[in-house]
Amino acid sequence: MMFSESSKQNLKELRPLIIPIFLPHAGCPHQCIFCNQHSITGIKKRNPTTHNLRSQIASFLKNNSRQRRPIQIAFYGGNFLGMHADDIYSLLAEAAKFVELGVVDGIRFSTRPDTIDRKRLEMIQDFPVCTVELGAQSLDDQVLAISCRGHKAVDTEKAVYLLKNHNYEIGIQIMIGLPGDDEKKLMNTAQRVAHLKPDFVRIYPTVVLAGSPLAKWYQTGKYVPAPLEECVTLVKQLYLLFKKNGIRVIRMGLQASEDLVEGSSILAGPYHPAFGHLVHSAIFFDKTVSALKSTEINESHIIIRIHPSNISKLRGLKNENIKKLRARFHLKSIDIIPDSTVAEDRLILINDEKLVGYKPSS
Ligand code: SF4
Repeated sequence: MMFSESSKQNLKELRPLIIPIFLPHAGCPHQCIFCNQHSITGIKKRNPTTHNLRSQIASFLKNNSRQRRPIQIAFYGGNFLGMHADDIYSLLAEAAKFVELGVVDGIRFSTRPDTIDRKRLEMIQDFPVCTVELGAQSLDDQVLAISCRGHKAVDTEKAVYLLKNHNYEIGIQIMIGLPGDDEKKLMNTAQRVAHLKPDFVRIYPTVVLAGSPLAKWYQTGKYVPAPLEECVTLVKQLYLLFKKNGIRVIRMGLQASEDLVEGSSILAGPYHPAFGHLVHSAIFFDKTVSALKSTEINESHIIIRIHPSNISKLRGLKNENIKKLRARFHLKSIDIIPDSTVAEDRLILINDEKLVGYKPSS
């Protein structure tokens, strides 16, 4: 079945509702140093049977309303195009039936950059696949080698080129804190990813998962995970860089409900259930500091007008930002006023009844 160009465009513009189907380590050529998908997804089996797949999708559809968003079936947790051709066909054929019925709008999957070639793209061209997520992780060959990825940065570049030629929506996943990586290499990776102009990126801090080769390195002291605060600062820089380049950042950090199971097996590392919120809070903290620094404060009371959707980001977790701002600028009080006329990436600072700072986006 061909997937029309207008449908693909529609899916690119709206944030889809995802039906995640986990295929732990399916199609993986080996285990990458940081990975243990059984640990991440809690699923010990490999691919679901046709019956299982059907019932997982049906049950999701029964329990979730469409809310005018497109719905996509997503195959995650493995290297989709690294699987045997029969498995690829059978999963796509089953998922495509839901698209044909009109209850789902498209299919997406995550795969390694070195699985994207003309032959495999021909294999999937008649299925309603709209989005391909590339697990690039880094565009530094040394970091890729230390992480036992078994591919190079150029594979990601070639993959993006081929996928663009086929008009797929492209997502790139990158990781921070990989062994052998540092800030300079990470920013270089981010610049190269931005240059590739994917439709979106996901940014995952490296955590030490039980059962991963990295766990052994951690236990022997060969790998020390980056502290949470440092990771938030790095991800903030990446977020701002991608935003400046018009690239959506759809995920920062592992999400408890989607990427991790209860009592999960993270041994160490910068995991936080609200990692993305921490990054956004750090950005709003910087914006406020910069607005406060660029003006003379006459009173120890200030008012900040901000879009209602950003109030919790401005406050920070447990009001941390407000506490830090008050201490740093010797302020008695900071009033936050929701104002839907303020652009979402801005804030207006009022002191002594005068507008003293208008902080545009970074
Ligand atoms: S990172 Fe991807 S390719 Fe590597 S082991 Fe995990 S699922 Fe497989």
